[in-house]
Amino acid sequence: MSLLSVSGVTKRFGGVTANKGISFEVAPGELVGIIGPNGAGKSTLFECVSGFYRPDEGEIHLDGERVTGLSPDVICRKGIARTFQKLRPFSGMTVLENVMVGALTRTKDVKHAREQASEWLSRVGLSEKADSHARTLSTGQRKRLELARALATEPRVLLLDEVTGGVDQRTIPGLVQLVKDLHARGLTLLVIEHNMRVITAIAQRIVALYMGEVIADGAPEAVARDPKVVEAYLGQAYVK
Ligand code: ADP
Ligand code: MG
Repeated sequence: MSLLSVSGVTKRFGGVTANKGISFEVAPGELVGIIGPNGAGKSTLFECVSGFYRPDEGEIHLDGERVTGLSPDVICRKGIARTFQKLRPFSGMTVLENVMVGALTRTKDVKHAREQASEWLSRVGLSEKADSHARTLSTGQRKRLELARALATEPRVLLLDEVTGGVDQRTIPGLVQLVKDLHARGLTLLVIEHNMRVITAIAQRIVALYMGEVIADGAPEAVARDPKVVEAYLGQAYVK
């Protein structure tokens, strides 16, 4: 039985079909990687799963329950949380307050939300920044903040859009370890990641997208060697 099921999801923007009949399953406790060159449709897929976009066709189920087209806040309360590729902290708030926003989806008690938020900040290694304004954080720290805010909503499935994207090389191992730890504690994750070395090291399975379609789905080593995947990435290299 899968925890998350994506079935035939299609999303169009005018003449562009960003997602074309995408189907795959995520089992409870699994860490599934989503790869594909720029413009493949990875972020659009996350927008559909988290309710920010309504798919034109197809269905999304969480633990057997249809969530297609529900609003993001309803989907979040049902247990799907996400981080954004373009980081979106509430910049006028402190780091702790940002995470409290996540925690307040589960409790109305502000004191309890503050305690929960503190715990999540400590879990992601940001405790010392709790009272700083979010806008003062480095990119790596903002990624951790986004993670803490998403985790504070107590998700059953966490969607991460390019955790290591845009951060400096030294920051990557810490972020990767954090994701590994969350997975080891039983969290189900769907992770978009550009860095092939990172994703083959952490994912149990990889779904590869190209021009809106699934071109491979399987074990990381097999997907990384799949001729269609190699060609998709080569194509991008030649265009650049
Ligand atoms: P990825 O995350 O894999 O780089 P995206 O999902 O962001 O890819 O984009 C897939 C395709 O859909 C691209 O061609 C992109 O230009 C297009 N697209 C994404 N979002 C929008 C939007 N809001 N309006 C119009 N086109 C979009
Ligand atoms: Mg993207």
